[in-house]
Amino acid sequence: MPTPTKAYAAPAPDKMLYQETIQRRDPGKKDVVIEILYCGVCHSDIHTARNEWGGTQYPCVPGHEILGKVAKVGSMVTKYKKGDTVAVGCLVDSCRACRSCKENLEQHCTEGPIFTYNSPEKQTGGVTYGGYSQTIVVDENFVLRVPQNLDLAAAAPLLCAGITTYSPLRRFNVGKGQKVGILGLGGLGHMGVKFAASFGAEVFVFTRSKSKVDDAKKLGARDAILSVDERQMNAHGQF
Ligand SMILES: [Zn+2]
Ligand SMILES: [Zn+2]
Repeated sequence: MPTPTKAYAAPAPDKMLYQETIQRRDPGKKDVVIEILYCGVCHSDIHTARNEWGGTQYPCVPGHEILGKVAKVGSMVTKYKKGDTVAVGCLVDSCRACRSCKENLEQHCTEGPIFTYNSPEKQTGGVTYGGYSQTIVVDENFVLRVPQNLDLAAAAPLLCAGITTYSPLRRFNVGKGQKVGILGLGGLGHMGVKFAASFGAEVFVFTRSKSKVDDAKKLGARDAILSVDERQMNAHGQF
């Protein structure tokens, strides 16, 4: 029997979110039931809710920066137990058989990864619903462990904005002796500044907004360059 769960859903591209009751599946053997405590608001949520990328199925429950506590586990779950602090990001499933999946690169699954919302849900034949809800049921292989010392509300955006910036910075071994330019100080940009600065790089932010210059510096940037100011841009044109 599925469990009725309160959620916030977009009913149409041009309508406000409203409170809806969705059904969460019964946990399978490898599933973790998570009581959601926090969920970040990612701009992808807005693009999807407004159907700006096409293909949105309504009602749509966005949210893929999910933080919560394990409420229940399936009989064959080995990685988590009730009470653990866990998180879910942009993916909740994949084919698990293709070359990408076998290399732990499920985001490149050739069958198409199952996204946390607005994707076909294998187990039910329905559509996936995201974190703007009380609970979510996710296979343990797509659940992440969250260290106890983190501020849980502040940690939620790590699940999308965080990994999106962390991954390329690590891939290209950004660190001491390197200069990093971050374009824009928004949801992703501010994460990029914090990561790159913490890895020892010299960080410069490009922004159109004077009001963000101080914030950029507070977050660890060496300087912020107003991209609408030709003089400032020219001064930083040489590396
Ligand atoms: Zn996102
Ligand atoms: Zn695959």
